[in-house]
Amino acid sequence: MSFKAEYIWIDGTAPTAKLRSKTRVLADGAELPLWGFDGSSTNQALGNASDCVLKPVFTCQDPIRGGDNVLVLCEVLDTAMAPHPTNTRALLTPVADQFADQEPIFGIEQEYTFFADNRPLGFPVGGFPAPQGGYYCGVGSDEIFGRAIVEKHLDHCLAAGLAICGINAEVMPGQWEFQIGPVDAVTASDHLWIARWLLYRTAEDFGVAATLDPKPVRGDWNGAGAHTNFSTRAMREGYEPIITACEALGENVLEHVHNYGAGIEGRLTGQHETAPWNVFSYGASDRGASVRIPWQVEVEQKGYIEDRRPNANCDPYVVTRLVVNTCCSALEK
Ligand code: ADP
Ligand code: MN
Ligand code: MN
Ligand code: MN
Ligand code: MN
Repeated sequence: MSFKAEYIWIDGTAPTAKLRSKTRVLADGAELPLWGFDGSSTNQALGNASDCVLKPVFTCQDPIRGGDNVLVLCEVLDTAMAPHPTNTRALLTPVADQFADQEPIFGIEQEYTFFADNRPLGFPVGGFPAPQGGYYCGVGSDEIFGRAIVEKHLDHCLAAGLAICGINAEVMPGQWEFQIGPVDAVTASDHLWIARWLLYRTAEDFGVAATLDPKPVRGDWNGAGAHTNFSTRAMREGYEPIITACEALGENVLEHVHNYGAGIEGRLTGQHETAPWNVFSYGASDRGASVRIPWQVEVEQKGYIEDRRPNANCDPYVVTRLVVNTCCSALEK
């Protein structure tokens, strides 16, 4: 007998990489082999030397196909077995190892927007719905668009064993969020990429597209982010390390912002619960700050911080690497 392995990888599309996948049928009990693909079709190679290599790095049950079938997240290598330039996971793993003794963990809030017929789900033909106000965490068919997809996606993530910890309807109609974490940087990022793939795949069966566009509708409508919640063991035990982490982020602003997702200037405008992209601030309970210290954290004088800047379309391998590098280097001193 056989099983199906869906090999999933991150391509070279600029400025925001896309997920790709294809199916391998394997004999029962077979190991997951290295595999190849046509890199000239994914912006990862030229036609005259087009082969790229897929190296399985994370496997989970396939909740779409069920049975013994699996989803296989892969790193992309070149044919010399070196990490491909688009392989940002290979840059994260050594940094995660370097600071593993600080026990950094992440919870990432993935916002996204459903589209059908070229407009956000819930937007009327040729116009706009009622202004923002009632949609966030709403209930009822006048406020909520796509819940059947969202529920199915959550069930799929749980069946796959992903560290998904919640979902909510967002501020704009058709806009939603799920949260992954808190787990270590590599796990949070691997699970987030698989959860994104499951989101697209689940919505596909409903004839709906999900997008991570950070500003899906211009004007007075919220953008979509990927708030990145972060702590080390020291931060979970005391307040001074929390301030140290915030200050460290404030000394490294542009490197972070320029790597937090394409089009970040269009989302971090200083309006719609954001801080301007080029002005760093942090504060307790402040949803207009770059970095928020949640109110319970201030009360309890320990916990975690929320970097509110990453875009919905960010690469979590990049974001978590930068946060670990910046904060754990400062905390080590
Ligand atoms: P918000 O109020 O910003 O919408 P959410 O409830 O959506 O907050 O998300 C909070 C996130 O914080 C979750 O992803 C959760 O996993 C994460 N989190 C909770 N505790 C910690 C911690 N100690 N370190 C890092 N992340 C944490
Ligand atoms: Mn072919
Ligand atoms: Mn949230
Ligand atoms: Mn949100
Ligand atoms: Mn948040």
